[in-house]
Amino acid sequence: MAFIESTWAKPDQPFEIPLRPQTLSDFSGQEPVRKRLGIAIAAALQRSDALGHCLFSGPPGLGKTTLAHIIAKTMGTTLTVTSGPAIEKAGDLAGLLTNLKKGDVLFVDEIHRLAKTAEEYLYSAMEDFALDLMIDSGANARSVRVEIQPFTLVGATTRAGLLSAPMRTRFPIQLRLDYYEPDTLRTIVERSASLLSMPIDAEAALLIANRSRGTPRIANNLLRWTRDYAQAHKKTTISPHLAEGALEMLGVDHVGLDEMDKKILTVIMDHHEGGPVGLSNLAAAVGEEAHTLEEVHEPYLILQGFLKRTPRGREATELAYRHMGKKSPRKME
Ligand code: ADP
Repeated sequence: MAFIESTWAKPDQPFEIPLRPQTLSDFSGQEPVRKRLGIAIAAALQRSDALGHCLFSGPPGLGKTTLAHIIAKTMGTTLTVTSGPAIEKAGDLAGLLTNLKKGDVLFVDEIHRLAKTAEEYLYSAMEDFALDLMIDSGANARSVRVEIQPFTLVGATTRAGLLSAPMRTRFPIQLRLDYYEPDTLRTIVERSASLLSMPIDAEAALLIANRSRGTPRIANNLLRWTRDYAQAHKKTTISPHLAEGALEMLGVDHVGLDEMDKKILTVIMDHHEGGPVGLSNLAAAVGEEAHTLEEVHEPYLILQGFLKRTPRGREATELAYRHMGKKSPRKME
């Protein structure tokens, strides 16, 4: 099957589901996003209309999928989950769209990776709630118009810039998710710890929050690991000391850099004298996909001021040298 379908009744990622906020009021942070979405949902509900199509952009793990779940739940409709690369042919999309009921939500993750033909199909579905299907081939080929129910397309992308202009303009609601502040992440860690029935000190929650790269998914993953570590050490509460020990074992440092981030900086510093080094060279040297470096690792390294993207390639900054405890070959400004 070319797509994954999930409704409220069926779990998708068993690992994450219990911690996923179910309502907008449970969804911490991202104030502007929550406010705009709240208004749009309330207005659509009042009109008994489908919510306008939404585009969520931002790095992975910030809550795009969660918001799609919240929209379907609040609208009282069903969510169908798929992703750009999973839709191989226009036919896959037709199958999904014709199954939607009024107001249902179709969530397309990584929408920037949708095939061009499928994308063009989607235009009339989004605008006119109709599909022009080609039947038969050769001399008998003809197109039939199939009406579909008004639905809400929720697109998620880590690379809004890669979305074609015709696609982007078809989303009346476009929201960008930003990295979370440590204080918001601390609230998320505390909420998750209580869902996991694991008491945690406020200071320990903040320690985990500070090392989560502004990302709730990472915060939850670090918390789960710390919970396991606590259990292994026969502790019933997560103290700052215990959290410190747990995260040290993972190789996560005090600003949240993990082994891969440190490897990226080390390669640039030790093998390329601080850069510039091209993305594909860097990807080969660290053994990671170029697009993972671009979408997952680099944004946080750039945000922290450790990495610069220049037209000639990636460069490590003076701050990165200081953080890694290495001496910069460049003259200090
Ligand atoms: P994305 O689709 O952007 O990659 P997800 O929506 O899958 O991210 O979020 C990853 C996990 O992080 C979710 O399962 C949820 O537990 C948690 N999460 C994300 N955003 C929030 C938030 N604002 N408040 C609380 N938890 C969140």
